[in-house]
Amino acid sequence: MKFITSLIITLLLIQVISNGQNRSGFDKEVAKQAEYALALCKHIHQNPEISFQEKETSARIADELKSIGFDVTSNFGGNNVVGMFRNGEGPVIMLRTDMDALPIKEKTGFDFASTKTMIDSNGKEVPVMHACGHDIHMSVLVGTVRTLVRMKDQWKGTLLIIAQQAEEMSGGASLAIEEGLFKKFPVPDYALAYHINPEIESGKIGLIPGPIFAGVKTVEITVFGIGGHGAYPEKCIDPVVIASRVVLDLQTIVSREISPLEPVVVTVGSIHGGTRPNIIPEEVKMELTLRYYDNNAIEQTIDAIKRISKGAAITAGLPDNKLPKVWVIPSETPPVLNDADLCGKIRKYSSGILGKENIVRVNPAMVGEDFGIYGRTPEKVPICLIWLGSTNPEVMNDYIAKGEEPPPLHSPFLNPDYPATIETGIKAMVSNVIGLFNGE
Ligand SMILES: [Zn+2]
Ligand SMILES: [Zn+2]
Repeated sequence: MKFITSLIITLLLIQVISNGQNRSGFDKEVAKQAEYALALCKHIHQNPEISFQEKETSARIADELKSIGFDVTSNFGGNNVVGMFRNGEGPVIMLRTDMDALPIKEKTGFDFASTKTMIDSNGKEVPVMHACGHDIHMSVLVGTVRTLVRMKDQWKGTLLIIAQQAEEMSGGASLAIEEGLFKKFPVPDYALAYHINPEIESGKIGLIPGPIFAGVKTVEITVFGIGGHGAYPEKCIDPVVIASRVVLDLQTIVSREISPLEPVVVTVGSIHGGTRPNIIPEEVKMELTLRYYDNNAIEQTIDAIKRISKGAAITAGLPDNKLPKVWVIPSETPPVLNDADLCGKIRKYSSGILGKENIVRVNPAMVGEDFGIYGRTPEKVPICLIWLGSTNPEVMNDYIAKGEEPPPLHSPFLNPDYPATIETGIKAMVSNVIGLFNGE
């Protein structure tokens, strides 16, 4: 009986995956797992945890993987969870999900909205919300692997799962690599991840070969001055004025120094100095985020930041020992570069299951994602990150009619179409993984 059942499933799925005919068996299985994943998603959404504190979330993912026969290694570099499922000889395919939420107060009004608060690394109580869709990423992952395990007579190889901490702050992927992800576990032939995208309708996915997410660097600048009474500027050198000049001059790096064909962003996101209106302070601190794709362009940008800061201080007459301090924080979020060959395969498998019309060509974005790290080790693993459309098409039309856009990622109003996004994600990922295992 077992043999006959598996034969029937085999025949059904050969038809499903190879010629797209008679998909009912596959669709039913995915629908069942999507229902399970949706319930899990609501639970995770209601119980979010901020970066580096994903204790309950990682335990839940570990349990989900164990319950379907994965070998699970928890705390693999912080809260990272690695799961492995061997199913005979064949390629190794890695799927990655992130797990962390954000310090944002949810305003969606969902009946499963988060009301949770946590203590952040500064000891401050913060509201917590899954406002970047990582709840969906985990649920799609669980739904995908549950389906793949049910269909294990359809493929041979090893599934490697990494449920990663601290994507939002970076530090999850690099810790997994440092801990020996590609040394203690088999080196993946391919690594895949996906991220929800409210600008794309649910039911669709977005793909682009090559650059998709930018590299990120954070820079701190401390501008020094000679402080004193606000009524005697002639006896002081005012760091507020120097910092103001630096902020404006930094705007000329991208516009005047970097090739117009090379994308770079220089944003001064934080500037603080002084305590009272009548005191000229001793220093002003600034924090910058830089975004880039090309290594030479970012080096050139950092050199220019140093030169402009130093120049402004010299112009103001500051002595050598009071020149600004420019510090590039040594954490790494490199650009995410989708392997063109792998991306072509994903396009083929995904259009087979979702239909060509549901595969959207997207542009590279200047946001960052530490998934790129997995493709930058000496093992040179081909990686591909897929955008997962997450706005209900009718809701999207309402926004368009009003001349508005759906709430973006990191919005307290982020409003994904949970059921359709999860089901599409599972459908696409199962097809992609089986396609890659079978080398079709
Ligand atoms: Zn995010
Ligand atoms: Zn995210």
